[in-house]
Amino acid sequence: MRLSQYFLPTLKENPSEAQIVSHRLMLRAGMIRQSSAGIYSWLPMGLRVLRKIEQIVREEQDRAGCQEVLMPTIQPAELWQRSGRYDDYGKEMLRIKDRHDRDMLYGPTNEEQITDIVKMECQSYKDMPKMLYHIQWKFRDEVRPRFGIMRGREFLMKDSYSFDMDYESSKRAYNKMFVAYLRTFDRLGIKAIPMRADTGPIGGDLSHEFLVLAETGESGVFVHKDVLEFDIPGEDIDYNGDLQPIVDKWTSLYAATDEKHEESAEAELGDKLLAARGIEVGHIFHFGTKYSKPMGATVTDKDGNEIDLQMGSYGIGVSRLIGAIIEASHDDGGIIWPESVAPFSVGLINLKSGDADCDKTCAKLYSDLNAAGVETLLDDTNERAGAKFNNMDLIGLPWQVVIGPRGLKNGVAEVKNRKSGEKEEIAIDQLVAKFS
Ligand code: ATP
Ligand code: MG
Ligand code: MG
Ligand code: MG
Repeated sequence: MRLSQYFLPTLKENPSEAQIVSHRLMLRAGMIRQSSAGIYSWLPMGLRVLRKIEQIVREEQDRAGCQEVLMPTIQPAELWQRSGRYDDYGKEMLRIKDRHDRDMLYGPTNEEQITDIVKMECQSYKDMPKMLYHIQWKFRDEVRPRFGIMRGREFLMKDSYSFDMDYESSKRAYNKMFVAYLRTFDRLGIKAIPMRADTGPIGGDLSHEFLVLAETGESGVFVHKDVLEFDIPGEDIDYNGDLQPIVDKWTSLYAATDEKHEESAEAELGDKLLAARGIEVGHIFHFGTKYSKPMGATVTDKDGNEIDLQMGSYGIGVSRLIGAIIEASHDDGGIIWPESVAPFSVGLINLKSGDADCDKTCAKLYSDLNAAGVETLLDDTNERAGAKFNNMDLIGLPWQVVIGPRGLKNGVAEVKNRKSGEKEEIAIDQLVAKFS
């Protein structure tokens, strides 16, 4: 992409409405614009990052054996009346009427919808087990939408649902998602720690929230410091093998949000305990027959008995993750994107647009890099050098390549690593090889 043509409305000043750094930087880097409270439009730069995150989430769901579907945003109230949640859900649910005066709603989550699909299509033990997911916009009329897309009203969520014949099998599904989440967040360049979460009236120990440590997080968290050093399962993990040892290891040390924290842990763990704040980016939950029973989602087993399906649901806040990543990775100059989600890998700066040699070299590099699959943003504008550097730092691409008349004489470019700040001179004819 050429910056002179790109729709990237960056801001020099800090917008006054933004209280936390990720919100400020997303506005300043031209990623989002507010439509109304908690509802945002995604501009090209923001959308690129959103799509990258979505794709990593998708790949790890697929790897774990989950199958992608797409359910609607608008659901009939009748579904929620069957589960009993229509009245319980309260004011967070946006309720709508269609022209025939039928009650509809904008889905805050999809347990009812997916349970209904499985109820209609699966009758026998031969259809089990199943894990299904979708990545779809949700609406929750939050009392206090704030921090930009971090607590939006409209937001993008990945939600998976598992269906099994018995508890043991359901627990295997839970473990698959547990491991898939470890891998997903790791690939996104963040440390998200699984913490024991409330199971409410359902009970049991199969509910974990995944939290990213950040000062601006809304939850207090208490973590055994060694958890931060645990290894992430590799890409070759066998999802059909026994995942229990991995889950056991990750849950062996203390990790709790303020809701579940026990003060006794403080004396027990001493200086091994880290008290911090965290952002909830994922939540996995086994809830047994909570929806299958009232909604009649049963299958017949080998002996012809009707079995209520055991279910779990597994959410990831795809749009919230952008905020969490920025909270965890920025400096005074702006965003520092982890390579895996960066909107472009390389920011190519033409220091002297209009200079024939600079223009020619940049045009060739730009086309060679793109041809080699290196996503490149070329700053071909007429801004001052200082403004170009500041802008590149703000939008946070992992690499900056600077082409100027002086370096050109020696056939070199200056390459800066956004994260470390390190600069080195590299021969122009070696640049494509360095980045591809
Ligand atoms: P929170 O405690 O932050 O309100 P939640 O527990 O209500 O979140 P879940 O129902 O567990 O959320 O939904 C799954 C995931 O969706 C959450 O872990 C979070 O990452 C994301 N999410 C929930 N609410 C919002 C929101 N208002 N804006 C952005 N993402 C959200
Ligand atoms: Mg909530
Ligand atoms: Mg929560
Ligand atoms: Mg939750």
